[in-house]
Amino acid sequence: MASQPPPPAPIVNPDIKYTQIFINNEWVNSASGKTFPTINPTNGKKICDVQEGDKADVDKAVAAAKAAIQHGSPWRSMDASQRGRLLNKLADLIERDHVYLASLETLDNGKPYRESFNVDVNAAMVTLRYYAGWTDKVTGKTIPIDGTFFCYTRHEPVGVCGQIIPWNFPLNMMSWKIAPALACGNTVVVKPAEQTPLTALYLASLAKEAGFPPGVLNVVPGYGPTAGAAITNHQDVRKVAFTGSTEVGKLIMEGAAKSNLKRVTLELGGKSPLVVFKDANLDMAVEFAHMALFYNMGQVCTAGSRTFVQEDIYDEFVKKATARAKAKTVGDPFDVTIESGPQVNEEQFDKILGMIESGKQEGAKLECGGARLGNEGYFIQPTVFSNVTDNMRIAKEEIFGPVQQIIKFKDMEEVIARANDTPYGLAAACFTENLDTALTFTSRVEAGTVWVNFYHFVSPAAPFGGFKMSGVGREMGEYGLSQYSEVKNVIIKTQTKL
Ligand code: ADP
Repeated sequence: MASQPPPPAPIVNPDIKYTQIFINNEWVNSASGKTFPTINPTNGKKICDVQEGDKADVDKAVAAAKAAIQHGSPWRSMDASQRGRLLNKLADLIERDHVYLASLETLDNGKPYRESFNVDVNAAMVTLRYYAGWTDKVTGKTIPIDGTFFCYTRHEPVGVCGQIIPWNFPLNMMSWKIAPALACGNTVVVKPAEQTPLTALYLASLAKEAGFPPGVLNVVPGYGPTAGAAITNHQDVRKVAFTGSTEVGKLIMEGAAKSNLKRVTLELGGKSPLVVFKDANLDMAVEFAHMALFYNMGQVCTAGSRTFVQEDIYDEFVKKATARAKAKTVGDPFDVTIESGPQVNEEQFDKILGMIESGKQEGAKLECGGARLGNEGYFIQPTVFSNVTDNMRIAKEEIFGPVQQIIKFKDMEEVIARANDTPYGLAAACFTENLDTALTFTSRVEAGTVWVNFYHFVSPAAPFGGFKMSGVGREMGEYGLSQYSEVKNVIIKTQTKL
């Protein structure tokens, strides 16, 4: 990602235009009158207060979304291709405001502006355009059965979809959720993460400008146990899509089951193995293993957070990986020359420093980093541990920070067993020049995405999701679409034999 071209200059102090709740294409205050602050992770200071949505606000938003999808409503009766035009228009407006949105994301989240521009905002556009193309291609089948019946299927929208968004890729994850849902004709109530609500609110304003009818897209900022839980438990929400921690994922599934058995898709945590075999191109593997872990300050569910290296090349790999981490530039995320910014908030910052301490105490060798960087904001030094063993907490638990664990292995059989010895199964990668090695690894590793000689490549056309406790269902691509339609089978009795 360091090879991307520099983006146009950022807006270092972007105006905050929207801080209210967005329901029925209108901006409203919270029913309770409460607000919550959103914090700039670069300096720990408040950016602004945002209206704090709660159950009463979710109820209003769900009612609006339900009305917007009634039979005969403009949205329900719209030509499917027109939904595609609206999604494309929304992508065009994002493109128009690319610099502003990328600047706002960086301010609120702390991620380098270069990444916000080249990756996050870009990916949101690409995802919307990909699903715009699907709107009029979601079709049913005619099915030959007994000749006195005419049988066909309709793919109908599920209904009101609740969509709970994480803070690590705020705008991009929102696009992953809303694009397939709207493409299939659903209506949505989005709850952005409380740490990063600003780009979701701006996107809502663009949806209105694009011409989406009132109630189709609603955004309720607020906290998880209140606004998020109100979505999960709502009787009129027919599906909930969630990206976040495995712990909260379980609560979502439980709430969905106890309320109305709403459909659930979950994209959860990981402890993904990245395996470097001795025949790999070493420099390339070092660079990708670095990116796999340190990208987005380590705050990626697919982070390659267990770097397994074959014993023959282990020492050399550790030396090079440490040198790479030491060379990492960390600082003001608006500076387009830096590679990394701060962690998203104080809670994550403290948690990561705690995990680093546990690594030291459990006997891993600290090769570099291991402490806070500077004395303002939530910056952490790029940290590398070697001599990591499978039983250590840093090898088992998700750290979600800039902390690389390098673990030694002997052979394929052993590394596959160890790679799979985790409750997670989100992503995996191997580095090798040998086709058989790559094919053996990719077929035996338990993960929803496996990269070979690469890492972190995702496409809206390709499915994304987890095995085991990393998730339920798939997002993106055609697989992702299937989560947003109900299949209705229609059987018509005919008078003649067909
Ligand atoms: P993290 O631990 O990384 O902050 P979370 O899983 O807590 O991740 O949060 C991801 C999203 O889930 C956020 O939008 C958050 O507000 C929401 N959330 C947290 N707790 C709940 C809950 N009990 N019910 C519904 N949503 C929740």
